Amino acid sequence: MTGQPTLTIDYLSALLLKQGLLSQEQRAALQAQAPQQEVRLMAGHQGPGRRLHKSGERPSPAQVIASFALEIAGSNGRILTEDTITETLASFLKLPYLKIDPLKLDLTVVTSLIPRPFALKHLIVPVAAKSGELTIAVADPFNEVMLDELGSAHRLKIHRVLSSCTDIQKILREFYGFRASVMAAEAEERAAIDLGNLEQLFRMRGDKEIEGNDKHVISAVDFLLSYAFDQRASDIHIEPKRDKFLIRFRLDGLLHNIHLLPKPLHAPIVSRIKILARMDLAEKRRPQDGRIKTAHNGKEVELRVSTVPVAFGEKVVIRIFDPDILLQELDTIGFYPREYGLFNSFIHRPNGIVLVTGPTGSGKTTTLYSSLRTLSSPEINIVTIEDPIEMVLEEFNQISVQQTIGVTFGTILRTVLRQDPDIIMVGEIRDQETAENAVQAALTGHLVLSTLHTNDAPSSIARLLDLEVPPYLISATVMGVVAQRLLRRVCPHCKETRELSKEEREYLQIHRSKVRVAHGAGCKECRGTGYKGRTGIFEVLEITERVKRLIGEKADPTDIVRAAEEDGFASLRQLAIRKMLEGVTSYDEVASITG
Ligand SMILES: [Zn+2]
Repeated sequence: MTGQPTLTIDYLSALLLKQGLLSQEQRAALQAQAPQQEVRLMAGHQGPGRRLHKSGERPSPAQVIASFALEIAGSNGRILTEDTITETLASFLKLPYLKIDPLKLDLTVVTSLIPRPFALKHLIVPVAAKSGELTIAVADPFNEVMLDELGSAHRLKIHRVLSSCTDIQKILREFYGFRASVMAAEAEERAAIDLGNLEQLFRMRGDKEIEGNDKHVISAVDFLLSYAFDQRASDIHIEPKRDKFLIRFRLDGLLHNIHLLPKPLHAPIVSRIKILARMDLAEKRRPQDGRIKTAHNGKEVELRVSTVPVAFGEKVVIRIFDPDILLQELDTIGFYPREYGLFNSFIHRPNGIVLVTGPTGSGKTTTLYSSLRTLSSPEINIVTIEDPIEMVLEEFNQISVQQTIGVTFGTILRTVLRQDPDIIMVGEIRDQETAENAVQAALTGHLVLSTLHTNDAPSSIARLLDLEVPPYLISATVMGVVAQRLLRRVCPHCKETRELSKEEREYLQIHRSKVRVAHGAGCKECRGTGYKGRTGIFEVLEITERVKRLIGEKADPTDIVRAAEEDGFASLRQLAIRKMLEGVTSYDEVASITG
């Protein structure tokens, strides 16, 4: 390695060999297969996501090496990834390594300092700028031509950090795409409007023209959506402020600011979304609901859009229904074996009621949809009654409640019973009529799945009594009640452990002197939150003979809990503590849900 090296597979694999990340044999095999692999990757086998160039995009040497997914010798199965290769190269060259976090990047810095063709050609991303200095992320540290051109064009002091080629390509695609659309739209709006009175302009233009000429707005919205899908956001919030508007994503339950954009763009972007959701464009004073069906990486994604007028314009919230989240294997969503066994036995019985309870956002829909998906087969008629339908699935017959015209859960349920269903999912039992009809359905040989708005499983019984379902009918129909919550998982990339304090142990009523728990210190992978992804916890109350007796006596939920505990019932609190003791979640997370 003398003189000015070039970044090749030879160079990198020699370095990885020297650093002990590749064995002699692995390196030899890699060199033999690399040319073929490169051709294969160029032909488009690059995994998910769109390709950057139209044809013949050449994979970087690190991408080629990483695509073999080689095991690092003596590492307990760790795979040699592009990130590891990049990090190794960075530390060898004494350059800082940067795992790019798109949410931390400033759109303006990225896109305004370096033209897109230059950034694409050399695979660089400007990541920070301050007076007279510019920091760029590069994939190839030996590209001197680029440095010379950049230095002479900007007269800036250039600092380099090393990032993976895949990350850089992703940022270039997302940021330049979004920014380019936004800037073009901004320029066009400015030319068209003198005083920025957009509302008037729209009134003059009418619907047709907006759809026709706002191609920049169209692509800005496209980029926004696919960016949200990539980040696995559950919601997009578009919020008008006085002179700007804010775009936020909900990630793992919490909102993060994503973009702050000029106000004149707010109305066109909202209009575009309303067009996609088939809403009334002219109506801006009343809340509206709509739906968008779109695709991402070859699978269908359902979006539910709602608009509400706020002080500075229309606020839009887009809920993203990702089939990967709503339809999962039941045994992978967080159940412990005892609870899983019970729940599974309930849903496989031919008739009776199974209730799922928990607050909004506790994952009830995932549990219900995933259960129905497990049960669905050509010889079974599954009907769902929802308010509104969360995700449209072909194998179910889904009916939407329309409260305003008197089509309620109760009335639909009555009609549905005449349609020979086997399994009925009722979105929510919230009134007496629905409760009565659900009980009727169960008594006449149907399996009924539904939700109740209660905090835990035992108080669901009290809720049904409130809805005037007689105790003997509850005992005769309800097989079991599940209460659930979602807990954030500690980020595996920055996981640390510590001991609980005496107060913390007392708060959770753990009678042990030493309890080690995990938390996330915060890193780039988790955007500094210390959490990545979520898991469910499921409290399952089986309606046993003993519990039935207590229901008959209209006993207190606490008595029901005590009786159930003798049969092994574990409460949400106990289950959350168990997840904490296993290092899956943190003390704070447990305290926040049990508080
Ligand atoms: Zn982390």
